[in-house]
Amino acid sequence: MNNEKADVVIIGGGIFGCAIAYYYTRDNPGEKIIVLERNELCNAATSRAAALMTRIRSKKAFIPLSLETYNAVTAMEQQLGESMDVKTVGVMHVAAEESSVKDLEVLMSIATEFGEPATYITAGEAHNKAPWLKTDEAIRIGYMPGEAYCDPYLLGTFYARCAKMQGADIRQGVEVTSLLMEGNVAAGVHTKDGVIRANKVIVAAGAWAPLFAAQAGIGLPMAPVRSQYWITEKAPEFRVDAPIVLLPDAQAYARPEGGSLLFGIREKNSFSASPKEIPAEINSFSFSPDKGMQDLSEVIDRLTRFFPAVYETGLKYYVAGFSGYTPDNNLTMGAAHGIANLLLATGCVGAGIAVSGGVGHAFAEMAAGRPNPYDFSSFDINRFGEIDPFSQEWLDKCARARSAKKSG
Ligand SMILES: Cc1cc2nc3c(=O)[nH]c(=O)nc-3n(C[C@H](O)[C@H](O)[C@H](O)COP(=O)(O)OP(=O)(O)OC[C@H]3O[C@@H](n4cnc5c(N)ncnc54)[C@H](O)[C@@H]3O)c2cc1C
Repeated sequence: MNNEKADVVIIGGGIFGCAIAYYYTRDNPGEKIIVLERNELCNAATSRAAALMTRIRSKKAFIPLSLETYNAVTAMEQQLGESMDVKTVGVMHVAAEESSVKDLEVLMSIATEFGEPATYITAGEAHNKAPWLKTDEAIRIGYMPGEAYCDPYLLGTFYARCAKMQGADIRQGVEVTSLLMEGNVAAGVHTKDGVIRANKVIVAAGAWAPLFAAQAGIGLPMAPVRSQYWITEKAPEFRVDAPIVLLPDAQAYARPEGGSLLFGIREKNSFSASPKEIPAEINSFSFSPDKGMQDLSEVIDRLTRFFPAVYETGLKYYVAGFSGYTPDNNLTMGAAHGIANLLLATGCVGAGIAVSGGVGHAFAEMAAGRPNPYDFSSFDINRFGEIDPFSQEWLDKCARARSAKKSG
């Protein structure tokens, strides 16, 4: 059996684990960091994401994190000498109810505050940009040309490849079986191949993170809640250069996908699962036997206001996965209170691709013993008091938060 020692060990090679490894190796050359992924890198939530890299949101604490993702993309493209082919198509926020108009006005002022280009456009202009979009019910439409989406697997593996170039030890097919706890100190991890001792342990295990937190006596306030989207057949009205469209009054979003339309819509009753019930091999999990058709049929009226052709349009692909949701739709991450040397990069609330740069940077700094350069006060792990993340009551609460989410 091995008995190794590292400066930092990360559990999970999704986008958070890879991003942290990228920043840590960039800013702490010569230190030993090991990333342990039991399957292949980015196999779980990360590769399934719609990958909107949203910069401007009503939750302002997310914005610096997302802006840092764009900095990372530029730097990694230079380092690797390759393009990530980020699609900077912009976003249109379509407000069709007075309450949404108010929300849009706030969002437009946040964009101005952060120096992000944002203008109002007419219904005709919006329809020209996205010919599938019916705009006659729109009251106001905000357009932010700097917004983008990407290939999430590519972003995750760019982080990993750059981290490797900088000295990270990234191991696939290595399962962490438990934390190595010495009283109130996280001292490393147990794997099937032996123990790895580390000065800092970072849990970046996505849907499975509450299992590790529980070993340190922490009820991690998040629950795996299913996100799902559909991709239509190709049609000329789904232009590849069309902006992302956010429809808060339909609780839906859409973006181009190579001549098709990718769209997601919040279900009436979102589905959550206990981390104990989710298999390690996520591809073997049945997210929806009918590929989300029952869920879609329950809410399709909301969508037809803006996308009437949905009934005549063939749906070619269905994609689903788990994101870590919280009752207040805020991230849940940071230091584990009361446990030394344990950091929790968890609770992504369906925004992990967008915020990955800032999350990676923040955890790399904290792991190196330096102050977190970002404001994580609204992400604090203790903010809900003591909770049981495996109870049905908690799982339902987090699922309801997703069902109620209007944007982002
Ligand atoms: C359908 C869908 C659409 C989405 N759309 C967007 C979007 O538009 N924009 C956006 O920003 N985000 C989006 N997201 C959210 C985004 O995908 C997640 O926030 C992000 O991928 C979370 O990354 P992660 O690293 O925390 O988790 P994951 O990618 O799930 O990685 C966790 C990793 O930990 C590994 N692991 C777990 N347990 C162990 C163990 N015991 N030992 C070793 N390894 C272990 C797993 O195998 C996994 O690879 C979407 C998600 C879904 C499902």
